[in-house]
Amino acid sequence: MSKRVINFYAGPAGLPLPPLERARDEMLDFAGTGMSVMEISHRSKEYEAVHNEAIALLRELLNVPENYKVLLLQGGGNLQFCMLPMNLLWGGRKADYVVTGSWAKKAYKEAQIVNKEGARCIASTEGEGFRRLPTAAEIQVNPDATYVHFTSNNTIYGTQFKQFPQAGNVPLACDMSSDFLWRPFDVSPFGFIYAGAQKNLGPSGLVVTLIRDDLLAQCNPALPTMLKYGIHADANSLFNTPPTWSIYILRNVLAYNKQIGGLGAIEASNQRKGELLYGSIDRHAGFYKGYVTVPADRSLMNIDFALPSAELDDRFVKEAKAAGMVGLKGYRDLGGIRVSMYNAVTVEQVQVLVDFMEGFVRKNG
Ligand SMILES: *Cc1c(COP(=O)(O)O)cnc(C)c1O
Repeated sequence: MSKRVINFYAGPAGLPLPPLERARDEMLDFAGTGMSVMEISHRSKEYEAVHNEAIALLRELLNVPENYKVLLLQGGGNLQFCMLPMNLLWGGRKADYVVTGSWAKKAYKEAQIVNKEGARCIASTEGEGFRRLPTAAEIQVNPDATYVHFTSNNTIYGTQFKQFPQAGNVPLACDMSSDFLWRPFDVSPFGFIYAGAQKNLGPSGLVVTLIRDDLLAQCNPALPTMLKYGIHADANSLFNTPPTWSIYILRNVLAYNKQIGGLGAIEASNQRKGELLYGSIDRHAGFYKGYVTVPADRSLMNIDFALPSAELDDRFVKEAKAAGMVGLKGYRDLGGIRVSMYNAVTVEQVQVLVDFMEGFVRKNG
């Protein structure tokens, strides 16, 4: 077998091996068709079975209530930054935005392009370099908001909402691109959820969205067809040719998630990975300096830290690569190290990294 590295890339990111092996095995002859899944009609019964299984698995894994539609769309997380306000921030409506990082800020900016008066930033930690999340008291949602948008995990700055903002009757709208399905959660306070697939689910370009029926009913009817959530909901995400290959990989990943015990088992693994990695950072706090200032806000998906010098950062990345670990170089504006450990990264792989970190401190600390 070809050699696989330990993949700590922030996105696109590693996928679990069994769903990839399944894709390899089925590549040339999918479901007895004599073709790959990307070579057959999206109206064929073989493809439709995959499509519907992916949606059913999402509903099952997350326990999605009946009054939500699960949509499989294209354009990644970024298209949702404008598609959400185009559909729901019209006709005098208002929406609140919580700005906790670069992606959250982009979502807010796009909403302002769509509706300058309607989009309101109600909390931001930009003045503090996004090193923490706003506290519950700092997030005062306006009761007249159609939704309040936030980013559950800040991929670049390494913060993560362990408790979602409290918004009373205002529906939450959330960019979960970098931590969707990392644990079970209650869907019911959410009116809208979206997640670009390339962090935890599958190939880039595909975006999974959940929309609650009461919000679906309020969508702007005057939009171009492809931008209407309602069109995709009515057509079971088969209005036009969907990204069939990406949805097939998504199905494989979701089936694997179910097979290994569902989101509860996945959460236990993610918690253990966090204990291991933050354990090493905290043991050597003078050497590995975490970017986030409030421990409760630290992400279990993306962990940013810096060594005492840029030269040591570089050496760390280089020696880790020689030891079979890739994707550790920090985000370009932050420098340092970023460890991204989405669902596909195993406890054993994090242990390998932690052993490397302990050795690196002994040699260079
Ligand atoms: C990666 C990421 C995105 C960007 O998604 P694209 O698919 O590249 O448009 C958006 N939001 C968050 C939180 C991300 O991590």
